[in-house]
Amino acid sequence: MPGKPGTRIWRWRALTLFGVNALIVIHVLHWWLTGDSLARFVLDDAAHTLERGVVNPGFVLFALALLVTLLFGRFFCGWACHMAALQDACGWLLRRIGIRPRQFNARLIGYAPLVLALYLFVWPLFKRELLLPLIRPSWPALADWLGPVAPFEGWSASWRTSELWSGLPSIWVAIPFLLLSGFAMVYFLGTRGLCRYGCPYGGLFQQTARFSPVAITVDSDRCDDCALCTAACTAGVRVHDEISTYGIVVNRDCMRTLDCVDVCPHDALALKPGRPPAARGPSDGIRHYDLAAGEEGLAALVMLVTAVGTRGLYGQIPLLLAVTLGAIGAFLAVLGYRLAHRPGLRFAGRTLKASGQQTGAGMAWSLVITAAMLLLAHSLTVRLALERAEMLDRRITVPMEIVLSGSAEFLPGAVRRDAQDALFWYRQADAWNHGGLGLARWPHIPLRRAWLHLVRGEYDQADRLLQRARTARPGDPALIAAMADSRRARTAQQQMAH
Ligand code: SF4
Ligand code: SF4
Repeated sequence: MPGKPGTRIWRWRALTLFGVNALIVIHVLHWWLTGDSLARFVLDDAAHTLERGVVNPGFVLFALALLVTLLFGRFFCGWACHMAALQDACGWLLRRIGIRPRQFNARLIGYAPLVLALYLFVWPLFKRELLLPLIRPSWPALADWLGPVAPFEGWSASWRTSELWSGLPSIWVAIPFLLLSGFAMVYFLGTRGLCRYGCPYGGLFQQTARFSPVAITVDSDRCDDCALCTAACTAGVRVHDEISTYGIVVNRDCMRTLDCVDVCPHDALALKPGRPPAARGPSDGIRHYDLAAGEEGLAALVMLVTAVGTRGLYGQIPLLLAVTLGAIGAFLAVLGYRLAHRPGLRFAGRTLKASGQQTGAGMAWSLVITAAMLLLAHSLTVRLALERAEMLDRRITVPMEIVLSGSAEFLPGAVRRDAQDALFWYRQADAWNHGGLGLARWPHIPLRRAWLHLVRGEYDQADRLLQRARTARPGDPALIAAMADSRRARTAQQQMAH
């Protein structure tokens, strides 16, 4: 099958990607067995280097990947990224069971990776060096809402770690993440759905590759415009159109898989030096976009709201998973819109609507989309309740010594009212089995609620909350410290009463 498992280059690429994953497993095993290993090669950590000045293996990998991309194009994305391996494997498995992933070509959300890259790599520096110093004097509340930034403490290096997994998601988040970013993204958005719509590093690589002096180049005397190269491309690049217009592949989504080179029956394509894509054609090359203007807006809005609303939800959802949910949400929103507005619709080889009537498959998809949108609305409600609680909580700036001295009852009425309102909203955001609307518990809520009860002099409630939280997290040092504080405040208050 052209450009798919079985071709020569695909085998080499599969072997390389397998090797990358094997190295990751060996690294984790080494750390697990010895308790100390080389620090992790996670590209996220490059952002920490830029922010705090700590050089680590993640930064070195990132710098190397960027250099290779600048010189030769996105070989890292095609040959060395574990997420590429996941998507390729999921695409292959889906094809094996007869499901052929189709490309979802949306213009606006195609810029999401670039926006994410700016958010991850530029925003923290911009916020620390420019924005916060500018706004803090006049809008301290806004500065507080934007949150603190880590200070730059000079350049240093960190090569080894005993906490390889620290900051990475738990297994209960990692498994759904792999299923969603693998199977669901591939099924809804195409074989490289995550690369095209959700990967922040891809956002940087896309732009860097535009200046690479090496490109997929056509020998036009050999090309007969059969479009087999386009059919083989898992990144959705219209290879035959781009080479006939520009002489090279100019598309930012080209990940140098070389499937197009491999599949060409006339050996018309080759990787050759020449003028870079940026000097030849637009970054999205020649794309036929699937969405009308209104659908583009809808997809972008749903993706933005979903990603912002679900990031960090219940203290669990990492950025990449939130963006994955956003991209899937965008697709479902467009599908739902079309189901409602078009007289006829087909998706994934099935008729969902004909002559204005939904079929059984159409109704099933309507149910899925409605459930997804209700879940999103619920998550946003919980998130807004938490935002409100935290906003009120931030207004309470009573020094801890005063609260722990047992004199909370002498605090101003406005402070006690803010504490009461914050308690109300924290309770709404809390898990359903703790009296709230949430589907799970936010790890920090028990501590904040306990603190607010202490501010109000409600020692029993504070103790009860902390006891309950400690049953779930027995060794948590923050909880143990908070319980000691609570006891101190109660004792001080009792002494004052006598
Ligand atoms: S490059 Fe090869 S595969 Fe692509 S259109 Fe030309 S002849 Fe066909
Ligand atoms: S254009 Fe060719 S090299 Fe680039 S991603 Fe598509 S198949 Fe791979």
